[in-house]
Amino acid sequence: MATSSTTFHILGAGPTGSLAAIALASTGCSVVLTDPLTRKELLSRSRAYAITHSSRRLLTDLNLWTSLQGSLTAFSFLDLRDSACGGRVVFGLDDLPNSNGRHEAIGWILDHQPLMKLLMDRLHQHHRVELALGCTAPTPGIDDLIVAADGPRSTTRSQWDIGCWKFRYRQGCLTSKIALRGVKPGMAYELFRPEGPFAILPLGDGIFQVVWSAPWTQCQRRADLPTPEFLDELAAVLPAGIEPDLLLDTPRAFSQQWSMARRLSRGRGVLLGEAGHRCHPVGGQGLNLCWRDVASLRNLAEHGGTSQRLARRYGRSRWADLLMVGLATDLLVRLFSNQQPWLLPFRRIGLKAMARFSWLRRISLLAMTDGPTQLLKPLPD
Ligand SMILES: Cc1cc2nc3c(=O)[nH]c(=O)nc-3n(C[C@H](O)[C@H](O)[C@H](O)COP(=O)(O)OP(=O)(O)OC[C@H]3O[C@@H](n4cnc5c(N)ncnc54)[C@H](O)[C@@H]3O)c2cc1C
Repeated sequence: MATSSTTFHILGAGPTGSLAAIALASTGCSVVLTDPLTRKELLSRSRAYAITHSSRRLLTDLNLWTSLQGSLTAFSFLDLRDSACGGRVVFGLDDLPNSNGRHEAIGWILDHQPLMKLLMDRLHQHHRVELALGCTAPTPGIDDLIVAADGPRSTTRSQWDIGCWKFRYRQGCLTSKIALRGVKPGMAYELFRPEGPFAILPLGDGIFQVVWSAPWTQCQRRADLPTPEFLDELAAVLPAGIEPDLLLDTPRAFSQQWSMARRLSRGRGVLLGEAGHRCHPVGGQGLNLCWRDVASLRNLAEHGGTSQRLARRYGRSRWADLLMVGLATDLLVRLFSNQQPWLLPFRRIGLKAMARFSWLRRISLLAMTDGPTQLLKPLPD
């Protein structure tokens, strides 16, 4: 039974596995969390995440939200532009579902390091969590529920003989931290450019993370450019009035993949986070989707049942959300990363309609911030 005597054996202490450990321990279960990386290595990734309201709710439930306040940079406007057709929509706080002026942000940007530091500190303090970092993982007990949160190249998924639907995008993406001038306070940007989406995410104090999608060879070339040339190329794609001041880290190029495991459970094992699915970073959905896996598993653990039954129910509970986000992000990339003359008028009309009708903006923002399955349910808080 998934009761306080159940032990969850989590493989992978990335942002998904670590949050899952806290969430499952909060239900009274014992948790063993393992990762071949040490705490220092787990903290060292240079990345920022766009955090949506579905993640805010889970972090609040787990008493983590208040402790993260000093590290979150809120944005209250999202400026979405299509550079090929000239369309533009600006989302504001009024476009949030159930807004009534209650929410102070559309979303937040959170740096990897303060997030992982807080998660690691909480895990160290938790008496129900056993941490095995940077060492060989202890063998799971015969009744333990095994949670594979070991990332997109999950070896556990292969050991369980679970196949994947997957393909590699022609586009890669380049991420970098930059000091920019001319960005309005509280503004984040998603620019659709023919070579791919380009996001500007505020990190506070005039610092921004850019996520620059483009053909893979372009990303690699740009990552190798000397700093002045990199800043020149960046300046050429930034919206008018915004200028780069300083490069603050080494730009890194990543390949992009879409993948979905053919099943999310096997026996008493489940796939969590990017071990089970991966989508394009457009719209900053990735980690939020992984954390909705965590919320779902926690919810099921609270209701009990045998490990096998819990694993099966988890698998069933996540399909709709994962498929809809996977398809929506893929559609966005395909629809907007081109200059097809026959598509441009439709894109222009679509964005004009969205700029004009607030209900269209609300629906889009609800799908982005709470997941598309929420469109079928009563509005969340
Ligand atoms: C360029 C880029 C930009 C992104 N931007 C955003 C964004 O703005 N917003 C957003 O929400 N998401 C974003 N994402 C996605 C986000 O980074 C991922 O969703 C997130 O890292 C997934 O976390 P995870 O814990 O599932 O996997 P990972 O972070 O990959 O962690 C997996 C962990 O498992 C460990 N591991 C591996 N094998 C084993 C094993 N056998 N046993 C135990 N442990 C093992 C690894 O050491 C690792 O620590 C972005 C991704 C990329 C590539």
